[in-house]
Amino acid sequence: MTQFTRRNFVKAAGACAALGTLASVSPQVIGKGHKGRVIVIGGGYGGTIAAKYIKMADPDIDVTLIEQNPKYVSCPLSNEVLSGERNIESITFDYAKLSGNRGINVVTDRVMEIDAAKHTVKGAGGTSYAYDKLVVSPGVDFRYEQIEGYSEAVAQKIPHAWKAGPQTALLRKQLMAMKDGGVCYIAAPPNPFRCPPGPYERAAQIAMYLKHHKPKSKVIILDAKDKFSKQGLFMQGYKKFYDGMVEWVPGAEGGIIEAVDPATNTLIGEVDEYQGGVLNVIPAQKAGKIAQLAGLADDSGWCPVNQKTFESSIHKDIFVIGDACIAGKMPKSGYAANSQGKVCAAAIVALLNGQEPGEPSYVNTCYSIIAEKWGISVAAVYQLVDGQIVGVKGAGGLSPMDAKPATRAIEAQYARSWFKNITSDMFT
Ligand SMILES: Cc1cc2nc3c(=O)[nH]c(=O)nc-3n(C[C@H](O)[C@H](O)[C@H](O)COP(=O)(O)OP(=O)(O)OC[C@H]3O[C@@H](n4cnc5c(N)ncnc54)[C@H](O)[C@@H]3O)c2cc1C
Repeated sequence: MTQFTRRNFVKAAGACAALGTLASVSPQVIGKGHKGRVIVIGGGYGGTIAAKYIKMADPDIDVTLIEQNPKYVSCPLSNEVLSGERNIESITFDYAKLSGNRGINVVTDRVMEIDAAKHTVKGAGGTSYAYDKLVVSPGVDFRYEQIEGYSEAVAQKIPHAWKAGPQTALLRKQLMAMKDGGVCYIAAPPNPFRCPPGPYERAAQIAMYLKHHKPKSKVIILDAKDKFSKQGLFMQGYKKFYDGMVEWVPGAEGGIIEAVDPATNTLIGEVDEYQGGVLNVIPAQKAGKIAQLAGLADDSGWCPVNQKTFESSIHKDIFVIGDACIAGKMPKSGYAANSQGKVCAAAIVALLNGQEPGEPSYVNTCYSIIAEKWGISVAAVYQLVDGQIVGVKGAGGLSPMDAKPATRAIEAQYARSWFKNITSDMFT
């Protein structure tokens, strides 16, 4: 793992101009002993990074990270918990090092209200926190209403497992209790949603478990869409490892799920009804609730931002990163949230030092693990063109079709080391 010093962070985030002249910042900007107060809402893939990199780039900025849970359970690699390849402890992290080593004020509280005019946020217990700049990285919320009969309460019986933690444990428990010969149905959501390859990696990981423990069983993906991320590579992997065990039903052929009936454990599609051993319904998504409450989202349900700095197009001094924001061509992924966290951190440090934010560059890779030694990936580098984040031509790409097993084995290894590196970036 690269140790990020202030110097190479600035390089990485493409903001040399913004941060290179901190020594000459005027006292008016610095104020009484500090340069400003930044609050970050959400200690996940985006928020931890924004908080840490702001503090690392400029220790004179007060940084408070407000997260509702004392521990964070990662969605990346949570599909391996479903197959039994890893346990939930291995994807669970706390914030001790961010507060102990990094000088970030970590507060466990749920933000219920943002007052953009007064520059304050209010916690569940009524505590008010003041900010000069606010970063919002709350992840996603679900559009339960788009599937009749589905709700947060019903998800306690028919899990989505699209936020890792108790939902992941519930789905794993149901898979373990399913009889051999049973069917696990995964209802995959419409675009845009967090982790475009996630439902298809999940199908493979569940099939891996079934192949070893319940070989007469099947996984059927009922998709709201007619195509999906890394489709050719996934289909090839399913055929190689789980032939006849994994089936994909596109939207146009009856994959769209319109309703659930928890009483009879049934999914009701446009064409057919599916009664399964295990039902996993991943609903359509929108920006996390606090972003909605604060009026940061537009009619699409997601938050428009200045894609150079991630400052909200709706409220000044509030920055939205991660799944919740509209980030041009970037997908909603943990790696994208990490990259956006760094760009946003550099912009905020520049602004609090009276500088112009530098020209950003962004990156993303999404790995998927189909079998223990079979990984695939899609990667891209992005730049800002006419205010929009677009891919850099010729950078990144997709794993090749028909690659040798050794290549796939290395990619599976890369996937797991990616996880080690990015979580160490977040929590140490
Ligand atoms: C099964 C699955 C597999 C995935 N695999 C990958 C992968 O391999 N690679 C990859 O790059 N991405 C992957 N992702 C996507 C990745 O998890 C998300 O894109 C990423 O977590 C987004 O980061 P975020 O900061 O926007 O949200 P999150 O990481 O979800 O963080 C949001 C945080 O905000 C907190 N919060 C929300 N509201 C409040 C509030 N009002 N007050 C206080 N705290 C609040 C939440 O508790 C949470 O901790 C996967 C997702 C899933 C579901």
